[in-house]
Amino acid sequence: MPATIEAVEGDITRQDLDAIVNAANSSLLGGGGVDGAIHAAAGPSLLAECRELRATRLPDGLPTGEAVATGAGNLAARWVIHTVGPDARRGQTDPSLLASCFSSSLDVATQVGARTVAFPAISAGVYGWDVHDVARVAVQTVREYVNGTDQIDLVRFVLFGARAHEAFAEQLS
Ligand code: ADP
Repeated sequence: MPATIEAVEGDITRQDLDAIVNAANSSLLGGGGVDGAIHAAAGPSLLAECRELRATRLPDGLPTGEAVATGAGNLAARWVIHTVGPDARRGQTDPSLLASCFSSSLDVATQVGARTVAFPAISAGVYGWDVHDVARVAVQTVREYVNGTDQIDLVRFVLFGARAHEAFAEQLS
């Protein structure tokens, strides 16, 4: 069966899917926005796992466009997949960097066996991308990805606010 791709308005921390994706920063040590909300809802084990990653596999942090999985602490999801979006305020406006966040996250989902994945609007907050640009890149990248695999059943974009939801719904229609 082909994978479902959908967009809902809501809080990604409440999603009961196999994995939720975090728009992290490269330190992995917490931030504001969706990152802060995910850490607050998951509890301290999430930060502990991120610190462990920094002490082992990722001493210099997670590069922009890449992704890594941890457990999900108290969240309903089984995994949090952390990815670092491009920061438009620092001139990172190349769509391929943003596309890489979505495809790398789905690669990691496949590696851990997560078949249902929730994404936020990566880079559309503090990192300053226009949400319409994010929606276009996100939907195109995820569509191409799921067409080439049978390992993903559902991708749900979970958007904060009507404007972001409309931007994604438009791309999916
Ligand atoms: P970035 O630094 O990648 O821009 P932000 O967390 O600042 O990340 O914002 C990314 C998007 O996530 C924004 O559209 C923001 O409104 C949204 N967001 C913030 N909190 C949540 C949440 N709990 N669930 C879903 N989306 C959220």
